[in-house]
Amino acid sequence: MRYVSTRGGAAPVSLSSAIATGLAPDGGLYVPEAMPRLGKLPSGGYLASTAAAMLEPFFEGDALAGELEAICAEAFSHPAPRRELKIAGAHVLELFHGPTAAFKDFGARFLAACIARLRAGENRALTILVATSGDTGAAVGAAFHGVPGVRVAILYPDNRVSPRQAHQLGSFGGNVRAIRVEGSFDDCQRLVKGAFGDPSLQADVPLSSANSISLGRLLPQMAYFGHAALHADDKPMNVIVPTGNLGNAVACLWAREIGLPIGEVVFACNANDTLPEFFGGQPYRARDAIATIANAMDVGAPSNFERLVHLFGSEEATRFNGAAHGIDDATIRDVIRRHAATDGEVFCPHTATAIRVFEQRRIAGDSRAWTMAATAHPAKFETVVEPLIGRPVDVPEALATMLGRTASAEPLAADQRLFGDWLRSW
Ligand SMILES: *Cc1c(COP(=O)(O)O)cnc(C)c1O
Repeated sequence: MRYVSTRGGAAPVSLSSAIATGLAPDGGLYVPEAMPRLGKLPSGGYLASTAAAMLEPFFEGDALAGELEAICAEAFSHPAPRRELKIAGAHVLELFHGPTAAFKDFGARFLAACIARLRAGENRALTILVATSGDTGAAVGAAFHGVPGVRVAILYPDNRVSPRQAHQLGSFGGNVRAIRVEGSFDDCQRLVKGAFGDPSLQADVPLSSANSISLGRLLPQMAYFGHAALHADDKPMNVIVPTGNLGNAVACLWAREIGLPIGEVVFACNANDTLPEFFGGQPYRARDAIATIANAMDVGAPSNFERLVHLFGSEEATRFNGAAHGIDDATIRDVIRRHAATDGEVFCPHTATAIRVFEQRRIAGDSRAWTMAATAHPAKFETVVEPLIGRPVDVPEALATMLGRTASAEPLAADQRLFGDWLRSW
């Protein structure tokens, strides 16, 4: 299997090389040259074995092919249970049982397992740049912490992540450093993109990406959707995905594309309405992000939009085949408060957007079963959640350990030259 750019202006590359470089040289995103079609997969078995079976064709002919099972065993060492809510036909797919309590642990750990193997024997350290609106940085930091030959620089928007998220990001030390940028998530993303677009910087400091554009994160995210769909009684499984950069949602669509029993896939957004507007019939218009209480979805220019359009072939076909709904902060708060009071379910603000989209579908007369991706544990967003539910949220053990460490982050203006200087001096 070879990988090509969504923009069509780069030579096809191997999976290893796509994972190592992140962005394609023409500025596009790597996608498989042709989507494989899987035969029937067994519906029993562990997540790690489903993952290996689903990803095998994507690794075909690659240097990492022989390592795929070991990589999956490392990345899928925590479960992704699908659980029925007390609402008929509603399920949540809990993706937050990893070390940093968000779904991004799966992709980050998979990417780390791949890169650790690809870098074996290199003498120059690889620096991974990650722009984060909160959860990515923690997941990537945790996944790469202590991996030899790799360093991680985490850029996050100062004062726009929750206090616990900020603590997590700064808690690693060693080969993982946190930078708090004066600006928005989009500013952080611009700094990272700018660094990749600077050949002289790249010559001084070998760089790689771990954002959701990285194939090494996107591919494994297909696995838990596929695994859940294989195990579901209600096939095909309809899914509502809390969406920011479209990484999780595109992975779900890819899983459907290769033949997993997944039905409709709906995007739940926050008040950043680039996607709801597009699917509502207006031209695609990227913009600056606005801050919401579902901050990991504060994205005004979803980086995987190119992959989405590439999958369907055109913007028109994409619009025809998808749906996105925007949920504002007041409604997110209402969902969290109401469910805690009525059925005892406590959702994180991101998951709450998907729950609300489900409720809207029910109100509109849709009686089908739906599965909502529960993307983070509510304990990560305690400053939002606890005042709404009027009690503390239990903290998962792994998260508690991380919060028990000391934390620090370095301040940086959103300035490309300053960022380059910082990287050269590390
Ligand atoms: C990252 C994140 C999202 C958005 O996922 P994308 O892949 O960027 O669309 C949603 N919820 C949580 C908790 C996240 O961390």
